[in-house]
Amino acid sequence: MTQNILILKGDGIGPEIVDEAVRVIRVVDQKYNLGTRLSEALIGGAAYDAHGNPLPGETMTQAMAADAILLGAVGGPKWNHVDAAQRPEKGLLGIRAGLGLFANFRPAILSPQLADASSLKHELVSGLDILIVRELTGGIYFGEPRGIRTLKSGEREGFNTYRYSESEIRRIAHVAFQAARKRNGRLCSVDKSNVLEVTVLWREVVEQVATEYPDVELSHMLVDNAAMQLVRAPKQFDVLLTGNLFGDILSDVAAMLTGSIGMLPSASLDINNKGLYEPVHGSAPDIAGQGIANPLATIMSVAMMYRYTFNREDVASSIEGAVSRVLDKGMRTADIANDTASVSTKEMGNAVIAELG
Ligand code: NAD
Repeated sequence: MTQNILILKGDGIGPEIVDEAVRVIRVVDQKYNLGTRLSEALIGGAAYDAHGNPLPGETMTQAMAADAILLGAVGGPKWNHVDAAQRPEKGLLGIRAGLGLFANFRPAILSPQLADASSLKHELVSGLDILIVRELTGGIYFGEPRGIRTLKSGEREGFNTYRYSESEIRRIAHVAFQAARKRNGRLCSVDKSNVLEVTVLWREVVEQVATEYPDVELSHMLVDNAAMQLVRAPKQFDVLLTGNLFGDILSDVAAMLTGSIGMLPSASLDINNKGLYEPVHGSAPDIAGQGIANPLATIMSVAMMYRYTFNREDVASSIEGAVSRVLDKGMRTADIANDTASVSTKEMGNAVIAELG
């Protein structure tokens, strides 16, 4: 079976880090005889410069045809003056919505070798391994009506609408229960059911779905407490299930527990496990073009691609194992170097490839 992967390098450090990840894809393709077919298209600022549109029709057509998509990052100060509708970030939101990528997976794993990079005490984070499953195409970011209007008094008012239908809650809950089943069997659903009706329904539907997963232990937590617990005792969590807004915030908190944003991968999946894989970080314009960006988040996004879209746990673990051994050997890009000598983006890619053997 052919594995069609679309490569979207994007802007800033995007091309540099994606180049290393593509080399990893080519190596595992050879080693495991995967039948990989790569194609490439433009997104974000690069697409705006070439076509006046951050998500050209041709890119969307290629994305629909692909089995999986690997994305670098989009955006940068160069496009700050551009009309809001044509900003690079719109390309990313457009592709997520256009492909129905409703399930966002953000693991926060602290590599033991990097425990000192965390802002929390070693004992609180050492061995940390959390997965946040965030609903990505609904909730208050998409709810209508929305806008800024002028009231009769002449004062302006901003308004958004927070909605979730039962079916939207049910499908993300199934994804989270299935993920928990493959891990340590514990799922904590985050809501604000003491104040928001939307999340009263959220809690009710999650309880219903739970009856189909008797092997998974379900708990509920209010979002304010979840934020506190994430920095107080993060290791109590296995899988966290959240709506779009709460997940946006909590996943950034979880990211910082691990110390380096350059280490964190993510996946956004549709109902058939087709996925868009990308590092959590942005286009890092401050270091773009210098060849010093950390490619490991992108390389580990490739591992997630083999795990979730292609169902190849063996390939995923071999990539993650290679990254871990490279860290064991002391290889560090500048962002995780902590005053020790650092290697370039390409040297880090070379080291991972050498370990993949
Ligand atoms: P950022 O994640 O790009 O950078 C934050 C800091 O982390 C910077 O100091 C940067 O140098 C560093 N950093 C990030 N990735 C790194 C890596 N791989 N290796 C080493 N250091 C790394 O966030 P920002 O500065 O707030 O945003 C810059 C641009 O990226 C903006 O235009 C923003 O809209 C965009 N952005 C895009 C995405 C995406 O494409 N998914 C996500 C976030 C931000």
